[in-house]
Amino acid sequence: MYYKSTRDSGVKKTSAEAIVQGISVDGGLFVPSDIPAISMDEIIKLGDMSYSDRAAYIFAKYLTDFTDAEIRYCTDNAYNDKKFATENISEISHLFDGTYILELWHGPTCAFKDMALQILPYLLTTSAKKINIDKKIIILVATSGDTGKAALEGFADVSGTQIMVFYPEDGVSPMQKRQMTTQDGGNVAVCGIKGNFDDCQNGVKAIFTDDTIKAKLEANKMMFSSANSINWGRLAPQIIYYISAYATLVKDEEISAGDKINIVVPTGNFGNILAAYYAKHMGLPVNKLICASNSNKVLTDFIITGVYDRNREFITTISPSMDILISSNLERLLYLMCGENDALIREWFGSLAKNGRYEVTDEIKAKLEDEFAAGFCDDKATKDTIKRIYDKYSYTLDTHTAVAVKVYEDYRAETGDTTKTVIASTASPYKFSASVLEAIDGKISEIGEFEMIDRLAELSGYDIPKSLAALKTKERRFKDVIAKEEQQDYVLKQLSV
Ligand SMILES: *Cc1c(COP(=O)(O)O)cnc(C)c1O
Repeated sequence: MYYKSTRDSGVKKTSAEAIVQGISVDGGLFVPSDIPAISMDEIIKLGDMSYSDRAAYIFAKYLTDFTDAEIRYCTDNAYNDKKFATENISEISHLFDGTYILELWHGPTCAFKDMALQILPYLLTTSAKKINIDKKIIILVATSGDTGKAALEGFADVSGTQIMVFYPEDGVSPMQKRQMTTQDGGNVAVCGIKGNFDDCQNGVKAIFTDDTIKAKLEANKMMFSSANSINWGRLAPQIIYYISAYATLVKDEEISAGDKINIVVPTGNFGNILAAYYAKHMGLPVNKLICASNSNKVLTDFIITGVYDRNREFITTISPSMDILISSNLERLLYLMCGENDALIREWFGSLAKNGRYEVTDEIKAKLEDEFAAGFCDDKATKDTIKRIYDKYSYTLDTHTAVAVKVYEDYRAETGDTTKTVIASTASPYKFSASVLEAIDGKISEIGEFEMIDRLAELSGYDIPKSLAALKTKERRFKDVIAKEEQQDYVLKQLSV
């Protein structure tokens, strides 16, 4: 297997090259040359394996240039009970008839990003070694809150790497900001941007593709790579947990082997739901992929109309990790759906960059309708859902997962589809305690961040994550906040080049 670029189908890279490079030189994203198959027999066998073993089994289908020992080194170091609060790595809770919550937030930073970012540093450093790269790898991250901390935690003090994280100064939760700006490690830097997530992401993309900067790095034996979900090394690990969840549901006799399931994903950059799409096309029996958005509902509109239009107001919501108007990974989906027609992709994404808009063909509109359902929910409905689910099932949702639950409830009511359903739960409620408490208590809490956590522990009965409790006494280390135009200078200064 090799990897192509969505903007040039002639590109041919090994997985190690694709992971180290992050993004193709033509600005396209790397995709595997074909989607490997997994049979139901194989899925059933996964049911008896540990998460690390399941991951190694599935990675072997995508990272065909890695040896088994290299893959095992990566999965064993990432997926163990020293890093994750549960031996199973992710957990499944049965919410109501045939509806399951796939909790992906038992990692060190309490968001699903850990599922990929705990392993990415191992994949990246192993890849670099395989292809004899002796340059220092510089990771630039644009974050809407969760990726930044998860990447910092994954890369802190990993030798041969340096990491810089940019977050929207007013676009992340207080706990997210605290998590990032207190980060330890000799190779890390964290900086606020006066702008929104798209500004951070556009800045990082511009730096990545700037030839002058690239030459400067080259001269100093450095190179850029990406920890955002544009990197295939971020996406591949996310395919695993959907297949793993299915294997667990079969083993636990919640579903029978071969039963179709729906998968609901609270979506921002379209990475997590794209991983579910890959799982489906490998052979996982999936009925609908349900894409849930908050008030920034550019994806809902796109899936329903086939018109992607980012020319709209950016809304800051209580589910900040989904406050995104440019969903990068859609490029991979459309590349697959249009038969790997790189010219079409260049046309559409050129139009997106220039006019903020593109419209797909009728053929693709039909495919979108066939495979996806989509919906959105505003802040009020998000809070109502947290309260309703708490009262009815004693289950405490975070603000992002609540969006998914609400969109799923609407979908089920509208379609009458009672197919068993897995809802991806992307963050611990403790990460967004102010909004979650406001929803449950019905009033804004006047108490401090850590008193809120204690109150949430009383209400939810869930253990307070150790990593969050420890932040209480940690000094803020990074105080820089800059204009979006200053991002390049900041990077060059940090690298002393
Ligand atoms: C990143 C994130 C999302 C969005 O995931 P994408 O892969 O960007 O679509 C949703 N919820 C939480 C809590 C997140 O951190």
